[in-house]
Amino acid sequence: MPPSITRLDEIVAGLGPQHRARFDRLYAFNRSTARVVPPEPMEDWIAKTFRYLGPTREAVLEAIRAQPITHVVNRVTGQATLFNAVRASRPLDATDASDLAQEVEASRGGPFCRPMELTPAGAFGRIGQKTCANVAAYDGWHGLVIFEAHDPLRFRTDAFRPEEVADLLATARDWAERAHAADPEARFFLLMWNCLWKAGASIIHGHAQMVVGRAFHYGKVERLRRDARRYRADHDADYFADLVAVHESLGLADGCGRVSALAHLTPVKERELVLVAPSYDDPDLPHALWRALKTYSRLGVQSFNLAVHTPPLGEPDPAWAGFPTLVYLVDRGDPSSRTTDVGGMELYASSVVSADPFDLAEALRRAED
Ligand SMILES: [Zn+2]
Repeated sequence: MPPSITRLDEIVAGLGPQHRARFDRLYAFNRSTARVVPPEPMEDWIAKTFRYLGPTREAVLEAIRAQPITHVVNRVTGQATLFNAVRASRPLDATDASDLAQEVEASRGGPFCRPMELTPAGAFGRIGQKTCANVAAYDGWHGLVIFEAHDPLRFRTDAFRPEEVADLLATARDWAERAHAADPEARFFLLMWNCLWKAGASIIHGHAQMVVGRAFHYGKVERLRRDARRYRADHDADYFADLVAVHESLGLADGCGRVSALAHLTPVKERELVLVAPSYDDPDLPHALWRALKTYSRLGVQSFNLAVHTPPLGEPDPAWAGFPTLVYLVDRGDPSSRTTDVGGMELYASSVVSADPFDLAEALRRAED
C-alpha cells in the first residue's frame, strides 16, 4: 500500500530513533474514526454524490460509514490540520473549465491590460510598466506587479518558463528595495500572489502584491520567528533545518538544488507546499517555484495563494539570524463553487483538509524540469 496520511502511525513507527526523536519534537498526531449511520433512503444519494470514494456502491457506503480522521499538530507553531479524504470535492468537469476560460477572456481589456492609463503609480513611480500602487492600499507601502500576460492561468501552459518566475521575484524585490531606500524604517517585505477570486483577487489579470511593513514584521512572520527562536532555546536545534529533515524522513520532501519543497504535514488548506530556501535571491529558488507551479498545474489547481516570508531588508538583523526564505502555496479549490473553503474551523481552530500530503509529495517528485 502506498504511504498516506491515514497510515501516519505506521510510517512514524518505522522511523529510526534519531528521526523519530526529531519528529516527536516537532509534531504530535491523533487518529479517530467518525462513525456515520445513513438510513436506507439516503444510500442512493450517497453512492452517487461520493462515487469517487470507491469502485462499488458498497465500497462508497463503507467509506462514509467509517471515516478515518488524522489530526496533526505542529508543537512548535501550533499549526494543526484535520485530514479526512471523504471531504474531497468532486472532480472538476470540462464545463467548469470552459466557463472559467470564458470568464478570463471576457475580462480582457481591463485596468491591468492598460496599466499606464488605468492604474496609479506609487510614491517613486513605476518599474517600467510592470508595477503600480494598489488603489486601496492595506499598508503604507503597497505595490503590485502586473504580469505581462492577461491570463492568470498562464502557469498551466507550456509557454510558462522559470525566467518569468525569476523576473517576478526580482521585480518585487526591486520595488521593496526602493520603498526601503525612500523610508529606511520600512524593512519588512512580503510578496503575495492571489490567483483568481477564490484566492481573494478582485482583478482577473495575473498580478502579485508587495507590502513593506514598518517597525515590525507581519504578524504571522513575527510569530514564526519567535517560535523558531524558542525552539532553538529549548532543543539547541534549528527549527527550519528540523522541519525540512522531518519532511524528508517521511518522504514528504523534494529537493531542487538548495531549495527543499515540502508537502506540508500541517497544511493551512488543500495541497499546501512550503519551499525552504537559504535566501530570497538564491539562484535555485525561481526554478523550484516554477516546478511547484507546474505540479499545481498537473494536479488541476486553478486558484491558489502564494506568499513569501523573508527576513527584513537592509543590514542583517541579529534578531532574524538563521531565518530562511519560505514560499507557501495553497490550492483554494474550484473557482465555480460558491462555497468558501475557509470557515470557522480554519479561522479559529484547526484547518480541515481532504488532500493527502503523501499524494502531493509523489506529484512533486514526478515533476519534470
Ligand atoms: Zn488584462
